[in-house]
Amino acid sequence: MLQQNPVFIPGPTNIPDRLRRAMDQASWDHRAPDFPAFFHPLLDDLKSVFKTQMGEVLIFPSSGTGGLEASIVNTLSPGDKVLAASYGMFSQRWIEICRRFQIEVEVIDVEWGEAAPVDQFERVLASDSQHEIKAVLVTQNETATGVETNIASVREAMNRSNHPALLCVDGVSAIASVDFRMDEWGVDLAVAGSQKGFMLNTGLALVGVSQKALAAGKQAKLPRCYFDFVDMIAANKVGSFPFTAPVSLIYGLRESINMLQEEGLDNVFERHQRIAQGVRQAVEAWGLTLCGKNPALYSKTVSAIYVPDGFNSDTLVELAYKKYSVSYGLGLGKVAGRVFRIGHVGMMTDAMALSGIATIEMVMKDLDYPIELGSGVAAAQKFYRQSA
Ligand SMILES: *Cc1c(COP(=O)(O)O)cnc(C)c1O
Repeated sequence: MLQQNPVFIPGPTNIPDRLRRAMDQASWDHRAPDFPAFFHPLLDDLKSVFKTQMGEVLIFPSSGTGGLEASIVNTLSPGDKVLAASYGMFSQRWIEICRRFQIEVEVIDVEWGEAAPVDQFERVLASDSQHEIKAVLVTQNETATGVETNIASVREAMNRSNHPALLCVDGVSAIASVDFRMDEWGVDLAVAGSQKGFMLNTGLALVGVSQKALAAGKQAKLPRCYFDFVDMIAANKVGSFPFTAPVSLIYGLRESINMLQEEGLDNVFERHQRIAQGVRQAVEAWGLTLCGKNPALYSKTVSAIYVPDGFNSDTLVELAYKKYSVSYGLGLGKVAGRVFRIGHVGMMTDAMALSGIATIEMVMKDLDYPIELGSGVAAAQKFYRQSA
């Protein structure tokens, strides 16, 4: 297996050499007297990535899913009601987590390829005059379908219906890659993961928590232990963790935020946008269609692409790996076998994206897809040359 190829999956993403080196360190006692001087500025800088001054951002050793669970157990009680939509594998995951914790979920089913149904949310919230709904759960970037939901518009809908529910955002495949503004959008819980926009190994769930969410936590009765926000905040105040800190990943996070700051967050967002546009040019040149239905809401971090009728996307992804040692995302859930995904989140450049487009084009040709070899590459080249 040739290890040097980039991956084109929407997490774990490509890890820049700079970050791999940053993580390769001898042990450092997380209770050492000089740890807080390193850790406090890191927490502050992390807040600037989430664009929050009023809230906190907590770091839990876990994959992103742990951050989703932490958000639920720290703010809700058994029997509470929440509002969510099911429009892909990850929005569905929020719903499953809630159900396992005896939360009643009002689910709006949406066709996969659509975003969260903001108008329907507004209607449901407006009719909930008793304010039984305690939280609205949204996945900013639905990684299974490659569709983004406009979080500001969800906030506006909640404000118009004067509803006090918490706004909870799964931003795992969005935060640090696409625009996210925790305070401005009134987001109460925001979850990110180290292996996507932060370009690191899997293992940190980053959870933004508003003051309103912390206040809700005081009444929340779900049992919690490892993921307790209060324990974490108390330990963070003195510059430490309530348990052993995942120090190597935290070194990586420090360097990752340095990289994001050096490039500039706006430039990072712009790069993701451009790379995604180039990939979409290729998709169009192949004569294929994206899973996302509304071009204004196409994901900037992953493209989910339908294979032509009569083809199976699992076969495509498998051959890409076996023959060319390159990973692409499989279709998940309802679109398994029908879409493949090109992940372009985190460390991705024009040159890398072109290699991903070129390679999957070869695989499609190997499998007799009705595409013209080189057509997608040429379309993306044209776009990248013009927009560089
Ligand atoms: C990757 C991802 C997750 C988290 O998955 P983990 O495997 O637990 O890290 C959650 N939500 C979305 C939208 C994702 O893309």
